[in-house]
Amino acid sequence: METTAHETSKEAAPRPAPGASDWLRRFLHVLVEPRSYLNALYLLIAFPLGLTYFVVLLGGAITGALVAGILIGLLILLAVLVAAWGFALLERELAIWLLGVDVPPLSLPDPELVSPWRMLVRHLRKSTTWRSIAYLIVKLPFGIFATSVTLALAGPPIVGILYPVFRLLSRGPVPESIGLLILPGIPAVLGLAVALHVLNFIGRTWGRFAADMLGVSEEQRQIWDSRRKAEVADRSRRELIMNVSHELRTPIASIQAHVDSLLLPEGDRPDAEETERRLRVTAAETRRLADLIEDLLMLARADSDELKVANRAVELAPIMQQVVLALAPLALQERQVTVTLEEIAPGLWAVGDPDRLAQVLTNLVRNAINNTPEGGVVSIRVAGGVDRVQIAVSDTGLGISAEDLEHVFERFYRADTSRTRDTGGFGLGLSIAREFVEAMGGSLSATSQPGLGSTFWISLRRAEPT
Ligand code: ADP
Repeated sequence: METTAHETSKEAAPRPAPGASDWLRRFLHVLVEPRSYLNALYLLIAFPLGLTYFVVLLGGAITGALVAGILIGLLILLAVLVAAWGFALLERELAIWLLGVDVPPLSLPDPELVSPWRMLVRHLRKSTTWRSIAYLIVKLPFGIFATSVTLALAGPPIVGILYPVFRLLSRGPVPESIGLLILPGIPAVLGLAVALHVLNFIGRTWGRFAADMLGVSEEQRQIWDSRRKAEVADRSRRELIMNVSHELRTPIASIQAHVDSLLLPEGDRPDAEETERRLRVTAAETRRLADLIEDLLMLARADSDELKVANRAVELAPIMQQVVLALAPLALQERQVTVTLEEIAPGLWAVGDPDRLAQVLTNLVRNAINNTPEGGVVSIRVAGGVDRVQIAVSDTGLGISAEDLEHVFERFYRADTSRTRDTGGFGLGLSIAREFVEAMGGSLSATSQPGLGSTFWISLRRAEPT
């Protein structure tokens, strides 16, 4: 079965112009989307939850107010505040897990330790406290609306789908009645798709409201955002240092051992032939290290947004021919791998940086050649859609397992470490290629059939010839 690097697979295959069948597919896709059902579940339970909040909060507040002045009255009001906080936390989790919205935390951790009394005062001063209580109260009218709309819209189609199934199961298939039973199933499926689209819309709108009401204020949210970004940057910097140190260790140890052996006292030194072999290994390792430094500099530039790509309308045919001409003869001579370029329709232009595009293509074709056994074929195709252009680099090589395919675009990831660790690259080529393609406004993805071969897809915006 064909596997796909799922992050970017949407853009992977050349797509025809959207037609009626495409529209229908997109319309029905909602039926197999787990998020739609989670969303419907959220709306379905909105009423019982809204009612619970209303009863507990209002009942508690009235009871507390009536017995105010007495300590017990204040304790009840305090308990209402705690319950409201608990409900708001629950609502935040439900919005995240069922509606899939990104809700900032209800509060940011207090940097200093304060007494319970100060904590209570601070809590009462926070706008989130009052916004979340307002949210919990509004949840009741919303719940009445959401639960009844969900039942009214999704109920009949679900009955329409399940009824024929139960009838067939209970009575067994009676040929003449099968059609009559299945026929209502078609409008029921269409009805369910309509219902899920409407419910998704309601869920999305409410989700945005929940994020505004339950999360910390805009200012605090910015602090939270920058803190989160700083944490991610810090983690990736630490990972990078660990990876680089790890990668440098093997080639440097090898260079050191070889050079040390050439510096031994006269009698212990290897003979001329062995000396030359060791010098060659040292030279190759030094070259690999220089390449690694180049790649690291490139990634550092990408991270600090200094990666310069000069995007313009470029004609694809000359770039592809240039790359194939540069790589094909050596591939045939050294590895008996044939590199072919399918004829490109004239006038196929895309938005990109020609030098960077050539660099990305060279990387993909070189990877394809290196991962294809003798006698294999690496083929390059270009297809133009309405507003995108797809470039495919396919090989008849070893392929990439589904598990590896999910990671090959990550920095320092190598699919088969035993095969490539000591001689191949450092697992940076594809991550740099993806940075370049994305800087051109495109996307890079891969599909593969282990044992049969892989295809890497570059998707770029189509441009008018100039
Ligand atoms: P490297 O510079 O080490 O080749 P890349 O980022 O270019 O790193 O590739 C990452 C991993 O993906 C490598 O381990 C390589 O084995 C694998 N890979 C890349 N292209 C192909 C291909 N066409 N077929 C099979 N494996 C591939």
